[in-house]
Amino acid sequence: MSVTETTPHSSPTTTLLAELRGVGPERAAQLARLELRTVAHLLLHRPHRYEDRRRVHEIAALKLDEAATVRGRIIALGVKRYAGGLKSVFEFILDDGSARLHCRWWNLPFMEHYFRQGDEVLVYGKINLLKPRTIDHPETEVIENGVDNSIHLNRIAPIYRLTEGLTQRWLRALIWHTLRQFGRIITDPWPMLKLPDFPSRIEAVQMLHFPDEIAEAEKARQRLALDEFIEMQVAIQGRRRNLQAKAQGWPCAGDDTFVRPFLSQLGFQLTAAQTRVVRELRKDMGGTQPMRRLLQGDVGSGKTVVAACCALMALESGFNVALMAPTEILAQQHFQNFRRWFEPLGISVDLWTGSHKTSKARKETNLQIPARNPQASTLVIGTHALIEDSFTQEKLGLVIIDEQHKFGVTQREKLVRKGHFPHLVVMTATPIPRTLGLTLYGDLDISVIDESPPGRGPVRTFVRSADRLPKVWAFIRGKLAEGRQAYVIYPRVEDGGKNQLKAVVQEWAGLRKELEPYQVGLLHGRLRAEEKESVMAAFRAHSIHVLLATSLVEVGVDIPNATIMLIENAGQFGLAQLHQLRGRIGRGDQESFCILVASRKTKEAERRLEILAGTNDGFRIAEADLELRGPGDLLGQQQSGLPPLVFGDLAKDVALVERARGLAATIPEVR
Ligand code: ADP
Ligand code: MG
Repeated sequence: MSVTETTPHSSPTTTLLAELRGVGPERAAQLARLELRTVAHLLLHRPHRYEDRRRVHEIAALKLDEAATVRGRIIALGVKRYAGGLKSVFEFILDDGSARLHCRWWNLPFMEHYFRQGDEVLVYGKINLLKPRTIDHPETEVIENGVDNSIHLNRIAPIYRLTEGLTQRWLRALIWHTLRQFGRIITDPWPMLKLPDFPSRIEAVQMLHFPDEIAEAEKARQRLALDEFIEMQVAIQGRRRNLQAKAQGWPCAGDDTFVRPFLSQLGFQLTAAQTRVVRELRKDMGGTQPMRRLLQGDVGSGKTVVAACCALMALESGFNVALMAPTEILAQQHFQNFRRWFEPLGISVDLWTGSHKTSKARKETNLQIPARNPQASTLVIGTHALIEDSFTQEKLGLVIIDEQHKFGVTQREKLVRKGHFPHLVVMTATPIPRTLGLTLYGDLDISVIDESPPGRGPVRTFVRSADRLPKVWAFIRGKLAEGRQAYVIYPRVEDGGKNQLKAVVQEWAGLRKELEPYQVGLLHGRLRAEEKESVMAAFRAHSIHVLLATSLVEVGVDIPNATIMLIENAGQFGLAQLHQLRGRIGRGDQESFCILVASRKTKEAERRLEILAGTNDGFRIAEADLELRGPGDLLGQQQSGLPPLVFGDLAKDVALVERARGLAATIPEVR
């Protein structure tokens, strides 16, 4: 991905670091611990910070809690042991002529071996004590005499991530010499692209390690990030062109035979946004290429009816449709809704989950456009079970994936491959920040439902500490008395062990007592499918008033009378996930309340929760989450099929991503 090869023998990508002079087996093993194996890896090892050593600070001028570099000589050093020899502190005292600085390391007595009295040392850290001036656990670099110090001193020095046994100086010198040896043969990966406002790749690599000014390092990062983004875009655009060249879209736009009666019996009008999106999808489904579309709409915006309209279009056209949802509960809910909607139209709706398979396996037999027989067409609704080999479906015209961020890209493709290039729409409530839209979702067109159905009650969010719980329970009892229902979310991961199961059952007993005489149901991932179903059915039927659930109910569940949500240990969840959870309430015309209970407040957790309390805007929440936790977390780790970015930053490099997209499109031989 990085440095272009010229001759096979001296190529940075194929030359192993172990082949370099001065790198023996032990050093090579240390470098490998940093994932550095080839020259290319080494040259792209990104400094985690820079130190301006053209001007070091005077010890006398150091301020409390401000990071700075000083340079001086060790005038005294030693290890003190205490607690019967179990604990220790190693300390040296540095003098630079202006003042003295104590540097201490707790319980690392072997540090003693790295320093000698009289050594000249660079020290970087934050003063944590002024009398005497002290830094605990600073970064240090002993200046060696008799070596070429021009690599290390009187310049902006790169500081790298290290591993045990490696020193900054050794690694820096290795990179310096390797750059001299191999730098010449780093070429631009896309030489046809003109980038007058950026350094060349070789200049960028040099500036990355040894910038003349700090600003140069950022410029270098941008150039290298741009290369990463271009590579990503080339792959995305290649996939897309490939699909367009290979695949013919099935004619699935329909003729309104089903859609018209469906809409007239629905009981509400589509919002303007829903109508617009249905049109966009219909256009794709009547087009010459298979649709590949992401349907994004905030929680409660009404994506399900849009999916229903699309399904009907394909069914009208004589094709079968598959809809996949991430949980059995959600598949069941869809099954009930779609059966209610579709069976009056004479369409059969099947269920295919781990525990229910009403559908018969049908094999793809011919790839001709089928004789139109809409009445024989079927909608199959299921879970991951649809991906298994046992599920097959002939004449598959449309695949719908709900809550697609819960699935990986490979799972999505597996289902699509059950047919011969069916149309595909994937749905999510997680707003896609622009950079992700262009990268992770770059091969999808995006439709957005940007308006909620009318008549929804407002959702108010509060952050409360655990000691306020008695008041909160009183409030909830009041709402239950008014006829509302509540979710209580217990923050355990679904695959937690036996102890966690015990913990949630215990919590259940406590909650039942607390909320007597109201009925409290329990829902978690370890229940059998029938048990989950009957709990959900009872909650839906209002014979259970409160549902104690794990984050299993995060996605899709739609029960408008439930207007209260209490989330325990809310700090353990990601922002996007909390927003999803909160999306379970505020679905009816009543005012809704979300109470986030933070037990142990860390600064970061608190900041996250305050963002949530401050806005219901899923887009702002997603952007904040992206910034705080990175794309992997926002999308669910498995979903993020992104190559790891070393230089690019999806939270802030929108302009670079856009530039890369434009540039990639001009590269002719992309396939
Ligand atoms: P989501 O986008 O989160 O999947 P749903 O499709 O579950 O949302 O819709 C949420 C609720 O809003 C459902 O009860 C649905 O019937 C209702 N709904 C959807 N569209 C409209 C509309 N245009 N007018 C009124 N209610 C609607
Ligand atoms: Mg939904």
